[in-house]
Amino acid sequence: MSELEVEQFAFQAEISQLMIFLRELISNCSDALDKIRYESLTDPSKLETGRDLYIRIIPDKEHNVLIIRDTGIGMTKADLVNNLGTIARSGTKAFMEALQSGADISMIGQFGVGFYSAYLVADRVRVITKHNDDEQYIWESAAGGSFTIARDTQNPLLGRGTEIQLFLKEDQLEYLEERKIKEIVKKHSEFIGYPIQLVVEKEVEKEVEDEEEVKEGEDKEVKEDEEVKEGEDQKPKIEEVEDEEEKKEKKTKKIKEKTKETEELNKTKPLWTRNPDDITNEEYASFYKSLSNDWEDHLAVKHFSVEGQLEFRAILFVPRRAPFDLFETKKKRNNIKLYVRRVFIMDDCEDLIPEYLNFVKGIVDSEDLPLNISREMLQQNKILKVIRKNIVKKCMELFSEISEDKDNFNKFYEAFAKNIKLGIHEDSQNRAKLAEFLRYHSTKSGDELTSLKDYVTRMPEKQKDIYYITGENRQAVENSPFVEVLKKRGYEVLLMTDPIDEYSVSQLKEYDGKKLVCITKEGLELDEDEEEKKQREEETKQYEELCKQIKEILGDKVEKVLVSNRISESPCVLVTGQYGWSANFERIMKAQALRDSSMASYMASKKIMEINPRHPIVKSLKNKVEVDKNDKTVKDLTWLLFETSLLQSGFTLDEPSSFAGRIFKMIKLGLDIGSDETEAMETEEIPTLVDSSAAEASQMEEVD
Ligand code: ADP
Repeated sequence: MSELEVEQFAFQAEISQLMIFLRELISNCSDALDKIRYESLTDPSKLETGRDLYIRIIPDKEHNVLIIRDTGIGMTKADLVNNLGTIARSGTKAFMEALQSGADISMIGQFGVGFYSAYLVADRVRVITKHNDDEQYIWESAAGGSFTIARDTQNPLLGRGTEIQLFLKEDQLEYLEERKIKEIVKKHSEFIGYPIQLVVEKEVEKEVEDEEEVKEGEDKEVKEDEEVKEGEDQKPKIEEVEDEEEKKEKKTKKIKEKTKETEELNKTKPLWTRNPDDITNEEYASFYKSLSNDWEDHLAVKHFSVEGQLEFRAILFVPRRAPFDLFETKKKRNNIKLYVRRVFIMDDCEDLIPEYLNFVKGIVDSEDLPLNISREMLQQNKILKVIRKNIVKKCMELFSEISEDKDNFNKFYEAFAKNIKLGIHEDSQNRAKLAEFLRYHSTKSGDELTSLKDYVTRMPEKQKDIYYITGENRQAVENSPFVEVLKKRGYEVLLMTDPIDEYSVSQLKEYDGKKLVCITKEGLELDEDEEEKKQREEETKQYEELCKQIKEILGDKVEKVLVSNRISESPCVLVTGQYGWSANFERIMKAQALRDSSMASYMASKKIMEINPRHPIVKSLKNKVEVDKNDKTVKDLTWLLFETSLLQSGFTLDEPSSFAGRIFKMIKLGLDIGSDETEAMETEEIPTLVDSSAAEASQMEEVD
């Protein structure tokens, strides 16, 4: 390390990212503990009993030294030379090179600066270490320049492990603060697999005898700087064996004593490393709550591990309800936390889970990813892609499990139906699986929702396709003229009233080998028997002239006019092109204030008018046309029929005022003929209406 580099490195010292050093050093401790545990698997004598595996942080405020100790594998003299001897092999070098070429210090986390990050906060570092195969050594270096190694003959024996002493820079003394250390450990190392102990100073009030009364006061003195012994909270020893009577005579007073205790900082054990069979639902719930900040328990959980070519563990949670801003895309959320070998890497790793599953919370702990992985690297990372695929697969399993309990699934669906539908639209690979989770109201489902699977089991044998209708609300679609004939024939129709249904169903296309057919679009093939077919052919001939006439009147408002077999009660309906927008979709797009109006013009619904030859209105219209092709009332009535069907099919009117004009004219007509009692009564309210309708009517004539 050249002088210049050292300076450059030191120069950045005030940046908050420097706290990363603690994560790096703790992670090294954890690795060292892993190593000794691993070795002990084959040679148990290497892990002598009585010595626990732990990491201990000891702030020495008196000397401004932060000590990080572990009972891990330790280093031999050769290890010290090889591992700590050169900065070149650590990420620190790469980091500093990046800094020199203009990188931001906030990128430090990406480089895995490791041991050398100690110099971010310390200007001198001392490492005392003891490996099973060697003596205890001291390594020391100031700012990573040259270093010294010596047999350690002065310090207390470690037994085994490593103690790193950071002689903190003057402006980094905050790292001695209990609060600060706790905060960093909680955030970055909470789920390290070994206890992280912090030695804290406690002030306690003690009642002792008044000094004047005590003759041999020295005996009862409290030793303040007592060494903290392994594994036990150290409390000052005060021998006070006195009998009751004696106590009464002696005066006592209160004094404050400073004592040192060890406090375990990562009490929340990494739940995912444990066997799911041993974990209670309460434990999952409290883990979920700490992870998500939810106040309610989770709805469902999936805890699993993947082994083989790649190894990771994960816990996935489904919350009980959706956050109100689930689809607010700018919002940062805590969804999947990424850990690498128990070390926290990042919150909300977007690359681990597709957007449509953004409500799933949890953690993933990979054994294979490098610790120094950055967000940028994650996007291209192959390991991550495999993990992601597995997570999606497990989510599907999790949803299946939820669907086994109807109440739970209803809750789930109420909260996350949009996500499932979005998934249908986006995730072609899992589309079929996601389709199993769809639920809709239908003409046969009553108040309940039905799955596609149940729909299919109810299909009469002759029914080939799955029928659905989309619209603004349930009432509108249920009473739509399109539903009539299907109902009459005993067919069930799915009622889709969520705007996103339009998107998802257009991608789904089929379920279980059966086509999903929109009953408001052209191409609805109802199975007609020979007789019905013949009848329609005949009617088509009979009504040919009327169809032609209507098309002439309406011009390019409709593509064509046909005799229908899909309506029974209404005189006519407007059907849209198979690949164009449905009426409902046109409404949705208009509501979104379409940015590009050119799209609207070619996607906007091409309408086909289908007339019902058995309806009296259509019959009498036919008669009128036969008498006089240019009958003026035929024109008016045709427009009225068209516009009324527009409304009934869920379209909006381009010119509501001309429609109103025609209606007023009808009312006038009705009033002129009117003889009925009720009509007579209603006339009392009509006058203004009639007056205004005169203007409207004349306007209408211009339109015509
Ligand atoms: P990395 O951890 O990425 O290998 P570091 O610079 O952090 O790089 O550490 C270099 C090496 O020093 C480690 O690989 C390890 O062998 C050794 N080392 C560091 N800290 C400890 C420790 N607490 N106990 C034992 N060995 C350690």
